[in-house]
Amino acid sequence: MKKRMEVIMAVLLLLGACLFAKESVRMVDSMDTQKGEICVVVDAGHGGDDPGKIGINQAKEKEINLKIAKKLQALLEKDNIKVVMTRTDDNGLYQPSSRNQKVEDMRKRCEIVSQAKPVFTVSIHQNSYPDEVVKGAQVFYYGQSKEGKELAETLQKSMVEYLDQENHREAKANESYYLLKKTESPTVIVECGFLSNYEEAELLSTDAYQDKVAKAVEIGILEHLGLNQGETGNKENLDDKENTKDKENTKDKENTKDKENTEDAENTKDAENTGDQESTEDTEGTVGTEGAQEAAR
Ligand SMILES: [Zn+2]
Repeated sequence: MKKRMEVIMAVLLLLGACLFAKESVRMVDSMDTQKGEICVVVDAGHGGDDPGKIGINQAKEKEINLKIAKKLQALLEKDNIKVVMTRTDDNGLYQPSSRNQKVEDMRKRCEIVSQAKPVFTVSIHQNSYPDEVVKGAQVFYYGQSKEGKELAETLQKSMVEYLDQENHREAKANESYYLLKKTESPTVIVECGFLSNYEEAELLSTDAYQDKVAKAVEIGILEHLGLNQGETGNKENLDDKENTKDKENTKDKENTKDKENTEDAENTKDAENTGDQESTEDTEGTVGTEGAQEAAR
């Protein structure tokens, strides 16, 4: 009798194990095939009374962030990825009566992320630095997050490849940015460029370059998710690249002198004090929110 019970138990266990294994396979399958199941939060930094950085050309960071974020949303939705936006208009995420708008704004963003339960969050920002020469996109991740680091590195690679191959910046860890620290799922901050650099500020203010930035981020996201685009996508990118090159060449011819001078200045500076420059820029990327973080405590 006891033996029979044991046999029955063993059979039941085996059955259970088989069912469980089947279920797991099915879950993985649906992850792979139904891209609609994948949710990404796209966060347009700043908004409302908080304009973010003001460009050397008077461009407002909050406006550029929103435009790029919306373009990215459209691209990702075409890829069948569910996108949750933290904001879709100029308004910040706080009540006008709020005593500390910045803190309320940051908390609300975190709340949206925790409710959406995304695979990750991509926060769009623009950088600024006292030295006008400094430029180039850079992606930040929370140092404790392995996936955040991987995503940031993939995005950085994509930004360099599709926006500016001369950009030698690397993805960087950041331990103090509020959104990076307070979200459970991985979050990365994409600083698309420097509004303090005239050339980049002007580019970032154009619809065509905002499209390119959104595309570069989309390609990085798809690569990270293992959903690389088919031939059409690649071809489009190549075309883009070709056009950019042509454009660049024309520009080069037009003002070779200017460009050479700038480059020289850049090279000298880089060689002279790379360390100083880099560390200062990193804190620059987090300035606004560091204050919020302290206030939130
Ligand atoms: Zn910002």
